[in-house]
Amino acid sequence: MSVRKLTYKVLGWTAHRLRGPLTAGTRVLAYHTVPQPDRYRRQLEYLRANYTLIDLDRFLAARRGREVLPDDAVLITFDDGDRSVLDHAAPLHRELGVPAVLFVVSDLIGTQTPFWWKRVENHFTLQEASYAAAREVVNHLKTVPNAERVAFVSGLTELSYPQLTREELTVLQDAGFAITNHTATHPLIDRCTLPELEDELDRAIAFLRDLPGGYPKVFAYPNGNSSPALDAVLREKGIELAFLFDHDFARPGQDMLHVSRIRTNTDDRLAEFKSKVGGLHPFLYQLRR
Ligand SMILES: [Zn+2]
Repeated sequence: MSVRKLTYKVLGWTAHRLRGPLTAGTRVLAYHTVPQPDRYRRQLEYLRANYTLIDLDRFLAARRGREVLPDDAVLITFDDGDRSVLDHAAPLHRELGVPAVLFVVSDLIGTQTPFWWKRVENHFTLQEASYAAAREVVNHLKTVPNAERVAFVSGLTELSYPQLTREELTVLQDAGFAITNHTATHPLIDRCTLPELEDELDRAIAFLRDLPGGYPKVFAYPNGNSSPALDAVLREKGIELAFLFDHDFARPGQDMLHVSRIRTNTDDRLAEFKSKVGGLHPFLYQLRR
């Protein structure tokens, strides 16, 4: 057994038995894609057997002070709306009766437009760069002003990338997914000008208002980038609840516009997953910061 595997076995075992101060709050899991449905099934079955899986309405009611959640409540969320969520996660959620939240990038729905980082990765790997080198470009672009990133990406090799359609969002809703707001184009909002941010929110909210059962008031920060300076804009646009990507529990009393989530991958092996959802992995992560 590798050291990494053994470490996670120990962490997972310990975290599973740890309940209390480390784990005060709700576990809001933040996923992205679903490359290996078998591993994700094991995670869902583990959660069903050991935790209370809740939906967005219950989470909202609790945050509004209208409901008290059990200590072991878990809310599952997916960011971006990758097609693998429909292909691989939706059938499992439907079969197992597990609710979830999907944060979509509204301008991309029904198009062949790739997520902007996919276009960067594709362009540079076609130029024989390593995937790691391409990701370095992506990470650099997350730090520059929004208009600069948009101009840079628009000059790269075109890529056709089938996105979810509006009809497929309805299929996801039927499988238990609440569809919510992840902006119109997935900019880093702390790199946007005020008019750029307002436009992103207006377009995403208009899309969700038109979608029966959409949640225009619930937001996830792209890349987790938030800024207290932008809270007023979010509030002005009617956003009531916004999720971070900071690998922590959603603590009681946390500001509604800065609600923590635990970073998880659907292909995490069960021992690693247990250590994340159990609280030990997030705890060690917070210590390191
Ligand atoms: Zn995202």
